[in-house]
Amino acid sequence: WTTTATPIDKLDELSKTSYPLCMRILHEALKNNHHLKNSGRIQYGLFIKGIGVTMEDALDFWKREFTKKLDVDKFDKEYGYAIRHLYGREGKQTNYTPLGCPKIISSSVGPGEYHGCPYKCLDNESLRQKLFNYGIPAASINEIAELAKDWHYNIACTTYFKALHNRLPEKPIIHPNGYFLESRNILA
Ligand code: SF4
Repeated sequence: WTTTATPIDKLDELSKTSYPLCMRILHEALKNNHHLKNSGRIQYGLFIKGIGVTMEDALDFWKREFTKKLDVDKFDKEYGYAIRHLYGREGKQTNYTPLGCPKIISSSVGPGEYHGCPYKCLDNESLRQKLFNYGIPAASINEIAELAKDWHYNIACTTYFKALHNRLPEKPIIHPNGYFLESRNILA
């Protein structure tokens, strides 16, 4: 999933224009709460790695948010290692790749967590409300919510893409980073 470098000051905008809903929700939760639990940090951390955020920028990005509630020493001690680990610079130096839809859809999500696939995890009313807040037209909200109710999560995701880009992606959505690339092909 290599792509051109993405600067972190573009993430707010990109989360609205080119992120699939799962990542938009994680970005928003991080910005609102200045924190994400472990599974959310992995899902979102690997996604931004895949869209071309460098490790140095990723450390900066997470630190900027987390240290609104934590002191810098605590951040460095508790979270810095894990972020470097995602980039393969610690531990066994595994080069972790961004998670695909099947893995995200099958993850279990507890209270206070924002990872997972929202078409599966959110109850239908919360999903509708979220899409409404994001300015998705009513007809598309209905279509997406009905698809999600019938467990067609990837088709719901494709319909969200269509609502934002006025066209379908070239390939079916099976990976959040694939969604992002399709979007950038149209918008960049
Ligand atoms: Fe994310 Fe995939 Fe769900 Fe779309 S279908 S919201 S890309 S996990």
